[in-house]
Parts: sequence; C-alpha cells; structure tokens
Amino acid sequence: MMALAETEDDGFIYFPDGNASVARLLLARLVPEAFPGDPDVSGIVTARARYDLLDRPGAPVAVRLGATVFDVRHAGPAGRSREVEVRYRRDGADHRVRAGHVIMACWTSVTSYVLRDLPPEQAAAMRYGVKVPLVYARAAVRDWTAFAAARVSRVDTPTLYWNGFHLPPATRLGDYTSPRDPELPGVVQLMKTPNHPGLPMKEQYQAGREHLSAVSFATLERELRTAMVRALGPYGFDPGRDIAAITVNRWAHGYTYEYTSLDDAEVLGRPEAERPAALARRPLGRVTIAGSDAAPSPTPTPPSTRPTAP
Ligand SMILES: Cc1cc2nc3c(=O)[nH]c(=O)nc-3n(C[C@H](O)[C@H](O)[C@H](O)COP(=O)(O)OP(=O)(O)OC[C@H]3O[C@@H](n4cnc5c(N)ncnc54)[C@H](O)[C@@H]3O)c2cc1C
Repeated sequence: MMALAETEDDGFIYFPDGNASVARLLLARLVPEAFPGDPDVSGIVTARARYDLLDRPGAPVAVRLGATVFDVRHAGPAGRSREVEVRYRRDGADHRVRAGHVIMACWTSVTSYVLRDLPPEQAAAMRYGVKVPLVYARAAVRDWTAFAAARVSRVDTPTLYWNGFHLPPATRLGDYTSPRDPELPGVVQLMKTPNHPGLPMKEQYQAGREHLSAVSFATLERELRTAMVRALGPYGFDPGRDIAAITVNRWAHGYTYEYTSLDDAEVLGRPEAERPAALARRPLGRVTIAGSDAAPSPTPTPPSTRPTAP
C-alpha cells in the first residue's frame, strides 16, 4: 500500500466536502440541537445534521432553507425605521417577515436589486464587480494505480481544455480518512476557469459564462478523458475501464471579483474606503452588508490587508 499526496502536516485543514464543512460548523454553533454531540473541526465531516430541527417555532435561531428573498425594505425612512420588511418565496408561495436587523450576505449585485431603498450610487457600487466563472468536475475512478505508477498526485495541463487534474489532498479528520490505497476507488478533481485572453477581465468573465452555458457535457467529458489518458495512459490508465462516473458543476457566478492593476488601475489609485466594495458595504439603516463581495476577495484575506470597517 502506498500513500501519495501526504499533505496533512502542511498546516492546512482540508475538508473533503469543501466549504460545506465551514457552513456546517457555523450552523452547529447557531443551532446546536441540530448537530448532536457538539461536533468540532475533527467531527464535523461525519456529523449528521438534524434538518428537522433547523427551523422550529420559538427557537432563538431559525434557519429557513429554500427561501429566496426578493424584497427587503425599511418600514419607513432607512435612518429612522425600527423595522425591516423582508419578503421571500418558498414552496411556490410568497411570505413576509419583519426584522429588527437584516444582514444581506449574498452576491452584492443581487442585493442591489433586492434591497429596495438603497441610494442609487450604492446600488451602482454593488454592481461594479463581475463574478468569475468556474467549472469543476469530479471523476470517480475504480482505482488510482496509474497515479501511483507515475508518482504524481497532480497534473497541470495548461495547453488542454481543463487546467489540470489532481487527487484530493490526503486527509484524516476525526472518523474520516480519505482513500490511502491506490488499489481502491478514488475521486479525481478537475478545474477550468473559462475565459477569453486578450479581453478586459470583466469581458473575459462574461465570455467564460457564455461558454459555460453553451458547452455540452459530451465535450466536457471527452476533454476530461483526453487529458487523463494523455498524461496517465503510459502508466496504465484506461479511461473506458477506470472511470466509473463523472459529475460537472458549472459555476456561472463563482469567485468574487478582485481588482487587478490591469483593469482597475483607477479604482486601485483611490483610498480603500472609496473603492466600490467599500461603498457597497456601507450599512443602510438596520441592514448590514456582508459576504465575500464586501471584501472583495473569494479567499481569506490576511489580517494586514483586510479592509477596515466602513
Ligand atoms: C467552485 C468553487 C470553489 C471554491 N473553492 C474555495 C476554496 O477551496 N477555498 C476558499 O477559501 N474559497 C473557495 N471558494 C470561494 C468561496 O466559496 C466563496 O468565496 C465563499 O463561499 C463566498 O461566500 P459568500 O458568503 O460571499 O457567498 P456564498 O457562499 O455564495 O453565500 C451566499 C448565500 O446567499 C444565498 N442567497 C443568494 N441570494 C439569495 C436570495 N435572494 N435569498 C436568499 N438567499 C440567497 C445563496 O444561496 C448562498 O447560500 C470557491 C468557490 C467556488 C465557486
């Protein structure tokens, strides 16, 4: 038995289900009864959520899933109102609740339409960024002996359709242990950032989004098989035999927009407090703006560069 990609001692924690574990840890603190056993970082991966306990009448915190908010406005002038009215749609019906405070933590471009009493310049600042499209694929393989034979856990393929593919980092968290034996099944991850080199970034992202909505699954699958067999075919990989299943997730609006010196030189020349994200995240009355667009960064920002509160 061989162990490749032993990365668990590199100081990072890898959750096999991605950021879902982060959301589940937050939920476990907000609604403890929904996560019996008070799971921590090492227990969250295998913890089973009690969905039926997330939204109970009278509970101090209620999490209502599947509720799309479409109208948020103060019950009166934003600066003086004591309540915010929130309208949402769930199970085909419209509902209304009143809140003392609201945190809008979705994509700020959407917030600019949903939060009805925003000043126009703040709404415009919320629409400045263009989300970055991404496509992720997973290939379930019957074994990963070809990776072991090639002595690699990651292959970059910059000239092919997919940016590259890799085995997930080996992780041991509580009761969860990722596959260690190359003779046993595994999952290969692939990623592509669809874009259009030569255009300004925002137009590249829009072009990438158009590509994502047009490209067929057959093309994505063929390119996946091509990349893997070109790299690992000499080490015994046979896509027809070895790939058991493929899933593709198209993230039309994936990462938060980040300023670049190429396209946002004017914005970067302003003090941080005057850039679009800072203008966008200004609280409005009893509504606070959160989420990665408020940073603006899709990944954790080092404390030294974190923007100050408005
Ligand atoms: C494919 C992919 C891989 C990534 N990998 C990593 C990674 O490895 N590490 C990392 O640090 N970051 C990663 N990121 C980035 C990270 O996931 C995001 O930056 C982060 O989740 C953004 O958090 P957020 O709270 O701003 O928005 P979200 O996590 O998108 O949360 C917004 C929430 O608001 C809800 N919502 C939106 N509109 C409404 C509405 N009208 N009514 C009700 N609810 C609404 C959405 O359903 C969603 O739950 C990845 C992102 C993607 C797309």
